[in-house]
Amino acid sequence: MSHVFPRHSKSTPPVAVAGDGCYLIDANGKRYFDGSGGAAVSCLGHSDAAVIRAVQDQVAQLAFAHTGFMTSEPAEALADVLISQAPGALDRVYFVSGGSEATEAAIKLARQYHLERGEPQRRHLIARWQSYHGNTLGALAAGGNAWRRRQFDPLLIGVSHIAPCYEYGDRAEGESSFDYGQRVANELETEILRLGPDTVMAFMAEPVVGATLGAVPAVEGYFKRIREICDQYGVLLILDEVMCGMGRTGHLFACEADGVEPDILCIAKGLGAGYQPIGAMLCTAAIYDAIAAGSGFFQHGHTYLGHPVATAAGLAVVTQMLERDLIARSAQMGERLQAALVDRFGQHPHVGDIRGRGLFRGLELVQDRESKAPFDPAHAVAARVKKAAFEAGLICYPMAGTRDGRSGDHVLLAPPFIMTDDQIDEVTDKLAVALEHALTV
Ligand code: PLP
Repeated sequence: MSHVFPRHSKSTPPVAVAGDGCYLIDANGKRYFDGSGGAAVSCLGHSDAAVIRAVQDQVAQLAFAHTGFMTSEPAEALADVLISQAPGALDRVYFVSGGSEATEAAIKLARQYHLERGEPQRRHLIARWQSYHGNTLGALAAGGNAWRRRQFDPLLIGVSHIAPCYEYGDRAEGESSFDYGQRVANELETEILRLGPDTVMAFMAEPVVGATLGAVPAVEGYFKRIREICDQYGVLLILDEVMCGMGRTGHLFACEADGVEPDILCIAKGLGAGYQPIGAMLCTAAIYDAIAAGSGFFQHGHTYLGHPVATAAGLAVVTQMLERDLIARSAQMGERLQAALVDRFGQHPHVGDIRGRGLFRGLELVQDRESKAPFDPAHAVAARVKKAAFEAGLICYPMAGTRDGRSGDHVLLAPPFIMTDDQIDEVTDKLAVALEHALTV
């Protein structure tokens, strides 16, 4: 009898005993192709020798030094590398242990920044429906997924939500992509004006929406308009790249594809690639300087901030990505994966859309391609696909609630950047088996 509190009490997961490249191996010796890197985590696969060595060396050298007393060499070095590559005026890195800690820190930093500058009335956060920013209470309040929020609604701080930029689901008939993007971006201005322009502190969004929409990038021009609106009203732009960042979408920082520069940016997942739990919040020099010139102290903190072993892992991961040109590989293999998915499922009666950037791809599953009508949630299509794929030896990340947090289904793919052409075939073959099995409702 297990004493682990599992994710689901009604199923018993197999025991993972080893990782080998793109594969996870269970206690029975069954090999699973990790087609979603867990949840877009394992970008280097499960047995990267350089990262393993860096973790082992660091833990032997210095396991832990609390950042209330000391900094450490790997934290300093990783911050230098990230800032040397980061877009715009990002200049400081606040290391945490995961994605939710990064987004929580971002929300609190936005608030404190305005306080330090003498604008205490700025307290409203605006985010988007159908986004996910984490499961701690602040991050959950910022997220716009009805299913995740529902039970905890009475505990959530008030956050405004505007429409996502979700072209497949929401662009009107006859409307151009560009016009659609401007229309939904302008919802931000409407909401700022409704709340009172000098009361809004920040807008938070995922450049490519992951878990809750299934790899949906914004259309051309959307984020440029968002940036303009933020600038016009003194609102900070927080980009959550926890899932889509760190090379996943073909750029080290996902927002590079949109030509937009945030004030605060959150990363995690691929930063540690699963070798260590680590996340980070990056902010501009202007934000840091406002704190430094004011109280000098960001009223925040966790015990494991800037953990030496976690930052050593992050440093090794980013170094591997840069030295082995793995981000370009994510872009190239992503195009090949997209082509293979379109080839295999482009005419599938229940695949409505195949989308994404780099090795971050989503297939939206529909009852009817013509009308784009989703399946009845009672069919639990996403759960069935997940189970059937797992049985076939493919780990992918299906999720329900694509349309509104309740109806709609998609499958998210986020395989390791080291995947080969043969493995693209393996993924599409196994996914075909899973869809066949799961959609025979
Ligand atoms: N933000 C985004 C965009 C995410 O996808 C996730 C996790 O899936 C989070 C935040 C939360 O990260 P974590 O699960 O590491 O707390």
